[in-house]
This record gives sequence, structure tokens and C-alpha cells, in this order.
Amino acid sequence: MRSLSLTYLVIACVLNACSTVPPADSPSPVPKPAEDQRFQSHVSNMLDEMWREFPEQALRAGNYQYAEQMSVPDQARRNQSIAFYDRQLAALAQFDPSTLSALMRVDYVLMKNRFESSRWYLTTFKAWQWQPSNYNVGNDFHVLINTEFAPLDARLRMVLSRLEKVPAYYAAAKENIANPTREHTTLAITQNKGTHNVFGEALIKKLDGSGLSSGEKSLFMNRIDAAKSAIDEYIAHLVALNTKLNTESKSDTARSFRLGAPLYAQKFAYDIQSRFTVGELHRRALADKIVLHDAMEKLARQLWPKYLGNTPIPTDRLVMIRAVIDELGKRHTTRDDFVDSVRRQIPQLEAFVRDHDLLDQDPTRPLKVRETPHFMRGAGAGASVSAPGPFDPTADTYYNVTPLDGFSPEEAESNLREYNYWTLQILNIHEAIPGHYTQLMHANKSRSLVKSLFGNGAMIEGWAVFGEKVMLDAGYGNHTPEMWLSWMKWNLRTVTNTILDIEIHTMDLQRDAAIAMMTREAFQQQTEATEKWRRATLSQVQLTSYFNGYTEITALRDELRAKWGKDFSVKRFNNQFLSYGNAPVRAIRELMLAAR
Ligand code: ZN
Ligand code: ZN
Repeated sequence: MRSLSLTYLVIACVLNACSTVPPADSPSPVPKPAEDQRFQSHVSNMLDEMWREFPEQALRAGNYQYAEQMSVPDQARRNQSIAFYDRQLAALAQFDPSTLSALMRVDYVLMKNRFESSRWYLTTFKAWQWQPSNYNVGNDFHVLINTEFAPLDARLRMVLSRLEKVPAYYAAAKENIANPTREHTTLAITQNKGTHNVFGEALIKKLDGSGLSSGEKSLFMNRIDAAKSAIDEYIAHLVALNTKLNTESKSDTARSFRLGAPLYAQKFAYDIQSRFTVGELHRRALADKIVLHDAMEKLARQLWPKYLGNTPIPTDRLVMIRAVIDELGKRHTTRDDFVDSVRRQIPQLEAFVRDHDLLDQDPTRPLKVRETPHFMRGAGAGASVSAPGPFDPTADTYYNVTPLDGFSPEEAESNLREYNYWTLQILNIHEAIPGHYTQLMHANKSRSLVKSLFGNGAMIEGWAVFGEKVMLDAGYGNHTPEMWLSWMKWNLRTVTNTILDIEIHTMDLQRDAAIAMMTREAFQQQTEATEKWRRATLSQVQLTSYFNGYTEITALRDELRAKWGKDFSVKRFNNQFLSYGNAPVRAIRELMLAAR
């Protein structure tokens, strides 16, 4: 799941958290403290420079030092960014990573990848040309107006200062756009319309009640008007462009949302930092789909009499599996008890992890279950973990669960079936224990801003998926066929996401075939499938991160089980794996294999 960050960064697909204290058996081959210190001070200078250079990045990370400044996304800005990345890469070349201790080396790897990929995004990927939805001032203003990091007057003066640049911002956006996709153009129109609300009555009320001088207030109002006109002009520009894209049917008018194999492979390498190629991951996903279908067939056959009695068993095994899954969906909690049933499960998951010795937990940092704050609620039921940002690491961690009272009876029922008796437990394992929340807790043991800011999303998502399997393997759910079948359906989603993303972007998979794959072969509902199709036309590579991370971690666990022999334990592997923070699994693997 994905969401905005205010004082909290929301985990799931957002990178977060900090690094680690080396555990007892952590690998530090030949620690060279002097070199570590030199690197540490380099990192801290680099971050100072980065915040100055990119005020918006600072703001989004919860650092408001430069919050009154607004960047204009023009060619001069891009040149300046490229110069920054080149400078940073040259500075990194002054270090020999093999002389750094293990945790520092991970930071080195993350920094190098970040600067190389950011440079590549500007010079080769060029989303700034073809994704009009990249331009929207709404979020950053929303954060300044609504986050109480400073008194209201101070924040309003930052808003006033930034507002001045909004017309230049959208002028640069118009200038940049060339050959956009229809999908990102449509999205940009919808989202920028929504941005008007940020400058609406709630803000005016705040301004009226503030201590700003009357001169400041009238300047403020003028700048709001100018900002709104700039947004409207941008929208009008895109609407005209969109009409042109939709009426001229020639292929050279609109860019395809499909990346094509070469660009996709590069983006995959930068975003995932996988030990697999795209082709290898695709083959693994196809193979896993067959394994899952075979196992699901056995379980569904076993469950058939219990749930469907004497109803004739369909000859098509996918139809049979679906029928049993639909029956399981009917066992669910009630609409009113949804949030509380999640709340009751958290201590049970903690107890299971403790009793089965699966990994270390920290009782001093409890997870607080709360109803999802309204500003974070999107479509559908949902759950996410809000963890403190890197600048506020001791704040509470929340498990946000969206109550179902806002839904129609039909929508509520559909959500309750999706998060039924079994899958709700899997959701809690994934999001909370031992999934995202537990992973963050380990990563936060010591602070590394680099791992927190540049962390690897495939590791984070992969861990949450891996954690589900760790629990079921240890007997969570008593090995009932219902629990395993539910997990397999859940796991099939990550497998299918991978196949879809790769085939859509590199193999011309068509919409109907994609939706058929999701509904028939992965047993999804029509709405989930159509929303997923849309997401895959707007994003690239991210949908593969869950399965990639899961597969790499599972392979590493098996490798170390063989290597460690009788010294292997689930707890030892899990604790040590998590001790490296949000590093690419590939980098963790090298360090764990090098350790004794
Ligand atoms: Zn997740
Ligand atoms: Zn029901």
C-alpha cells in the first residue's frame, strides 16, 4: 500500500527506517574504524549538501530546514542535479568499499546506486518529459500547511515564500512535456484538479486567524490567485493535449505506457538491485504459479466436501479452486468489529513469534493499532504501518486500519470477504508482526540515515511476504488446509503482479489477457484486476518488488541452512538478516555468506 507522509512516513512501499547495531555474530571482516569514521563524516557532509540542493526531498523526509524554498523543474535545475550526482559519484570513488565495515559498505552500495540511478532517470528515463503527472505542487504545500512542526505563522510564511514560484513551476512543466502517455496525462489532469483544494477555504481560514500582517495577507491572497491560475492553465494545456492524443490515431502522437525491454531492464536493475535478471525473475514467477496451482488443487479437493458437500466437482481445476476460495470468503468478522478484531490479533501474533522463537521482538516499542486518519484514507479497506521518520525515530509506530463504516453494505461485504477469517490474519502478519513493523523495529536499532532514506523497497516488501511464510511454516494456523489455501491465493498475487508487470512492459500483454490472468488464474475479483491493470500502466517495475524480495530471501535462507548445518536456526537467520537494515537482499547475501 502507498500513502503520503506527514510527520510519519508510511511503510509498505515507502522506504524508511534506520540501520542497526551489529549483532553478536555480525560480519565485520576486518573493521577499519579510521576509514569508517572518514566515511561517516563524508556521509554527513553529503546529506547536508543534498538537503540544500533538494529542499523538497528534505521536506518529504521531515527536515524543514529549507522548507521556504521551492524548486522550479527547468533545464537549469536538471543540469544542477546532474552536477550534484557527478560530484557525489566522484567523491565515492575516493573510498575503497572493501576497507569499510559491513554496515558502512551497505551504505556505500546504497549511495552509489542512488546517485547513478537518479542521474539515469534524468538523462535516459526522462519521466520529466512524458509523465505530466510528475508535476503537482499539492503534496508539499499540504505538508507545510497541516504538519505542526513549527508555529502556524512561521509555516504560513514558508507557504507564502513558496507560492511565489508556482507560476514558474507550471511554466517549466508545460515546457518540459513532449510526447506524453495518455495515461499519465489523464492522471495529471485529475490530480491537479484536486490540488485546488489545498488552496481552498481551510487555508484561507487559517490565514485569517493568523498573526501575519495585513500586507502579508494581501500578498498571500494575490499569490494564491496566481497559483490557482497557473494550475488551471496547466490543466487546460493538458486537456488540449489529451484531445489531440485521443483524436490523432497515429502511433507517433502518444507515447506508449509500455517501457519496452531495454529501458525496463535498466529500471529494474536500479530500482530492485536484484541478483536476478528480468528474464530469470519472469521464469521463476511462471514456475511458482504452476507449483501454487498444483498445491491449491490438492487443498481445494480436500476441502470440497466440507464446504460444498455433494455439489459435483468441476473438471476445470481453476474453477474448482475458485469455488472453494469463494466459500472461505464467507467466514469473516463483522463490519463493526473489523478494527477491534485486528486489535485483538496483535498480541496473539506477538505471543506466537515469542513461543516459537522466530526472531527478537522489542516489548518496549509496542505497536499501536488505530483507525486510519482521514487524510490517509484512500479507496477500499486497508491497513498500513506508519513509522516515525528518520528525524523523529522515537515517536510511536501505528498500525492504521480503515474501519468499514464509510462503505455501502455491498462494499463492506466485499471487503470482509477479501479480508476474511484467514486472510485478515495473513494481512496482519504482513503489515505488522513479523512483517513491516517488526522489520522496521530491527532496522531502527541504530541510526543510519542512508539506509533510511535510500533503502531498498524489494527487501522491505520481500521481508513482509517472507514473514507470512515463516509463520505458516512454524505452524501458525495449525496447518489447516484453509489457512494454507488462503496464503497461496495471497502469494499468487505477488507472483501474478510480477508476470503482469514484465509482460505488460516488455511483451505487449493486452488488457483483456491481463485481466483474464488475474481473475481466472489468480482468483481475483474484477475490480481488483481492473485497478491493477491501471496501476501497471502508470508504474513500472514496482509490482515485481514483492516477489523478487521474497524469492531472494527464501533462496538465501536455504543457502545458509545448508552452510550453517546444525548451527542454523530460524531465529538466527531472521535476526541476522534484519540486522543490516533496508539493504538490497543481494548485498545482505554477500555479507552473510562472508560471515563465519
Ligand atoms: Zn507490504
Ligand atoms: Zn458475509
